[in-house]
Amino acid sequence: MSKQAEMLAATEKFLVGNYGPRMRAMVRGQGARIWDADGKEYLDFFAGFGGGGVAGHCHPKIVQAIQAQAETLLCHGNFFTSQPQIDMAERITAHGFGGKVFYCHSGAEANEAALKLVRLAAGEGRYKIVSFNHCFHGRTMGSLSLTPGKYQQGFEPMLPGNVKADYGDLDSVAAAIDDETAGVFVEPIQGEGGVNIPTVEFMQGLRKLCDERGVLLVCDEVWTAPARTGKWFAYQHYGMAPDVMTCAKAIGGGAPLAVMVAAPKYADVLGPGKHGCTMGGNPLCAAAGNAALKLIEDEKLDQRAAVLGERVMQTLRDAKIPCVKEVRGRGLFIGIELDRESKPLFLAAMDRGLLICLAQTHVLRLAPPLTIEEKLLDRGVGILIDLLKAQ
Ligand SMILES: *Cc1c(COP(=O)(O)O)cnc(C)c1O
Repeated sequence: MSKQAEMLAATEKFLVGNYGPRMRAMVRGQGARIWDADGKEYLDFFAGFGGGGVAGHCHPKIVQAIQAQAETLLCHGNFFTSQPQIDMAERITAHGFGGKVFYCHSGAEANEAALKLVRLAAGEGRYKIVSFNHCFHGRTMGSLSLTPGKYQQGFEPMLPGNVKADYGDLDSVAAAIDDETAGVFVEPIQGEGGVNIPTVEFMQGLRKLCDERGVLLVCDEVWTAPARTGKWFAYQHYGMAPDVMTCAKAIGGGAPLAVMVAAPKYADVLGPGKHGCTMGGNPLCAAAGNAALKLIEDEKLDQRAAVLGERVMQTLRDAKIPCVKEVRGRGLFIGIELDRESKPLFLAAMDRGLLICLAQTHVLRLAPPLTIEEKLLDRGVGILIDLLKAQ
């Protein structure tokens, strides 16, 4: 039995099967490349569902920050504070809309914090939440309540007061909001839903509608931040800002970290005793996240993502591939909609040494590191074009 087969068998034996049979056992990563236990090399445009960070695997600056912090202080509990928490929060608020930061570990948890803040801020009698068809906000009972469709099956009843509207359709949002509505949750680009990009008018209209109706607007930036779409935060493409935003996945530079950011007006809603997370913002993860954000600043990775993303999308469109219906995206967050199911192509790409991501049944999603060498980016896109043309 190969090393990889052994590891896969042991995984089946000891780990819960909620992810289905694992496809590979990974042992090492560097930059845009990752290796499995049998030594096969892959170009990684999958980014661990976006959680792998924006700087690829084991970026020296992030590794160094983690090592230094591991030798200094790992955990102190949130009666206390430490420099990594402060530095990272300062960076997030400086590049976003000011306000204040709450730390936790996952996107679902950040959305739970947002849910609680929204209910508290909206006040007595307002508890309903509007979210969108084809959205994804997480798997915990609160965030799952916002996430419609197959994810909820078998777990009902959901939280009361969940109302769905259609992404891109302001009238449906206006109809969904009533006097009991506390907030609207929206992804500034729907990720799992198929890399769906709303118009400026829709996002600005949402802002206006929420203001008029006294409802908080939450942007779920869990896939889109930081810098992946060509701006620090994706809401910045639309000339508006939310009241609350949630970030996870890449925000920790590859370490498990998430934040909920509340705008100045709502920054003190979650007062003493109203919420908590024991390991939230622990110095190890905050040091990793802070190093990733500093790297984006130093290397202007937001701008790099914008330029490289345009180039990749143009190359894909110019290739005029018959099975490709549409190429869409912002920065290095790119969806390729096919006229057929995308899973077989995802598997074929893996065999050819290219990891990509899926979204819905007919969309392929590309999320290479923002630091990727151009020749590796071109090589990956070349492999994909070959495969698509052979369909
Ligand atoms: C992945 C995702 C989540 C859930 O994040 P977890 O860290 O898996 O809990 C929430 N919202 C969006 C938009 C996501 O893509």
